[in-house]
Amino acid sequence: MIEIRNVTKQFQSRGQSELFTALDDVSLTIGKGEFVSLLGPSGCGKSTLMNLVAGLETATGSVEVAGKQVKGPGPDRVVVFQEHALFPWLTVLENVAFGLKQKGIGKKERTELAMEQIRSVHLSKFVDRYPHELSGGMRQRAAIARALAMDPDILLMDEPFAALDEQTRLILHRELEDIWLRTKKTILFVTHNIREAVMLSDRVVVMSTRPGAIKKEFKVQAARPRHKADSLLHHVEN
Ligand code: ATP
Ligand code: MG
Repeated sequence: MIEIRNVTKQFQSRGQSELFTALDDVSLTIGKGEFVSLLGPSGCGKSTLMNLVAGLETATGSVEVAGKQVKGPGPDRVVVFQEHALFPWLTVLENVAFGLKQKGIGKKERTELAMEQIRSVHLSKFVDRYPHELSGGMRQRAAIARALAMDPDILLMDEPFAALDEQTRLILHRELEDIWLRTKKTILFVTHNIREAVMLSDRVVVMSTRPGAIKKEFKVQAARPRHKADSLLHHVEN
């Protein structure tokens, strides 16, 4: 589904003549319906790699989605960011329906489709609220509903739960797992939380800071039931 081959990304840092290598010859394949976590310390290039798949950045090498070279953003890939994902001037319903309007879907159908996704993330009672009237967890639920409403093949999630408290995060983990089991979407989930990566995904890809490369990958065999997560942490730590 996602085929990243020999990707190198360099940035020109402000005020410096030398190029900074954020990704160094990275290759990664993600199958259809797989839930893959991209794990690694701050600055290792997780967001950069995800942005390449999203079509928000370009680099040398090749990034293909469903056999086609990525040339820019597309409706088949939707990103859920850590924060500030919603339009503050729109209600939950308007936020979730927003992308559907862009797709040219009529108002009645738009509302129906949006409400379906809002129900799936348990926000039915809050459709008329504005983002600032929601808790952080509710805002991320709304952002997930908005992404799902677009019915993308691939969900790209860049530390979507990083700003949440532990308890809310655990609840959203469960909800995201349910969504994944129900929709079978391909999910690329960026995090620097080892536990989160191991609990949620089928496969964890660990990146190292220098020089922005993949350190190792492993399959998470006992991710479900997730209480076994603890015993898997040694994969990352050793
Ligand atoms: P975090 O966990 O903190 O979000 P990350 O793994 O997502 O980190 P990236 O945001 O991908 O890291 O950044 C990788 C490296 O590339 C960092 O050293 C960062 O400073 C650099 N970088 C990212 N974007 C740019 C840019 N637009 N211009 C210059 N350097 C950049
Ligand atoms: Mg990042």
